[in-house]
Amino acid sequence: MEEQNIVERDKAVIWHPYTQMKLAQPPIPIVRGEGAYLIAEDGTRYLDAISSWWVNIHGHSHPYIAKKVAEQLLTLEHAIFAGFTHPTAVELAERLLKILPGNQKKIFYSDNGSTAVEVALKMCFQFFSNRGEERPKVIAFKNSYHGDTFGAMAVSARSAFTAPFEKLLFDVEYIDLPNAENIQALKSQISNLKSQVSSFIFEPLILGSGGMLMYEAHYLDELIRCCKESGILTICDEVMTGFGRTGELFASDHLKQQPDIMCFSKGITGGTMALGATSCTNEIYEAFLSDDKLKTLFHGHSFTANPVACAAALASMDLLLSTETFNNLNRITEQHAAFREKIAGHPKLRDVRQTGTIIAFEWETNQDTSYFAGLRDMLYNFFLDAGIILRPLGNIVYILPPYCITNDELSFVYSKIEEALDRF
Ligand SMILES: *Cc1c(COP(=O)(O)O)cnc(C)c1O
Repeated sequence: MEEQNIVERDKAVIWHPYTQMKLAQPPIPIVRGEGAYLIAEDGTRYLDAISSWWVNIHGHSHPYIAKKVAEQLLTLEHAIFAGFTHPTAVELAERLLKILPGNQKKIFYSDNGSTAVEVALKMCFQFFSNRGEERPKVIAFKNSYHGDTFGAMAVSARSAFTAPFEKLLFDVEYIDLPNAENIQALKSQISNLKSQVSSFIFEPLILGSGGMLMYEAHYLDELIRCCKESGILTICDEVMTGFGRTGELFASDHLKQQPDIMCFSKGITGGTMALGATSCTNEIYEAFLSDDKLKTLFHGHSFTANPVACAAALASMDLLLSTETFNNLNRITEQHAAFREKIAGHPKLRDVRQTGTIIAFEWETNQDTSYFAGLRDMLYNFFLDAGIILRPLGNIVYILPPYCITNDELSFVYSKIEEALDRF
């Protein structure tokens, strides 16, 4: 029998995420990663300008992270995390809390961004139920994205993706992104709802999946302050923005206010392993301390605080806090800013916007701008043919690169974006 290639074997057994398996192009088989490149079986080197679904921060197959992970694997690969602990999880929590806003005092581990959000929502609902209060509602931004499990999906924007589950999702009040015109109205909306609402969950400064929609830190400060005055807990979902994306270590570093709870995943391990973390204040933590066992936070995953994932996160943090990474964050931010200035006013661009290392280009289009529209696929294939992985959100092309990307590589991506603007 003739040996089948990877793509044929894939087709026989695999169901891919966010993919209409009937219509999709065959997947590209990737066999190796190296710096900012993913390398295909046929030798094609793809410049990974979206950090492999926003997770990679120091480049692929980084030797330092690989070494630390290998050492951890030979020392301790897994330990049950109820009734037991291990040094890697403790060290990671200590080091995370050192770089988070000062009010964050405890780390609860889970597996990914969605579970980090589930844990945060449960903490908030139960914070009130442990005090005998019922607050069934959550406030979230229109166009937000917080994950694909049911709770995370419920607080995300309702869309074609969530339509089949609509009736099963709990009650959420959606508010507009804040700006100079609506900030007062948003604040009254929040204070009018206050006794029914347990939490306000938000992506700080930039709504990722919603289309890289950006808003200003000082308006978020006002919303957080308003929630504090109304007794509503705040959940800052830093799953995308964390670990340097916005130019600071965390998007929260642009804020004056401190959220009650924060969610992390994606870049936490440098994109090496699946790991989620939810941090919280002492006030939240203490609301679960009781002689009554029913006030326990009954949540956990088989791989909670997996030592190998924690080791990857510690190694990634070593790199993140290095001068080299600090310089790279500034360098990418400056390169983006210069290109933004150059391209602004292009007749095909409705908007170009930037927050730190993330830059987004919104195509002017008269056609249907939905995810399913043709422009998106044309752009995706155009960049792929040029050897660049960019995955437009509808008519919005964005660069969200690993921090090791060079100026030459960035210039190459910019030039292809200019070419695409001329063509589509
Ligand atoms: C990706 C993302 C999530 C979900 O994380 P997963 O690891 O994919 O479950 C949650 N919140 C935000 C802001 C994200 O970008």
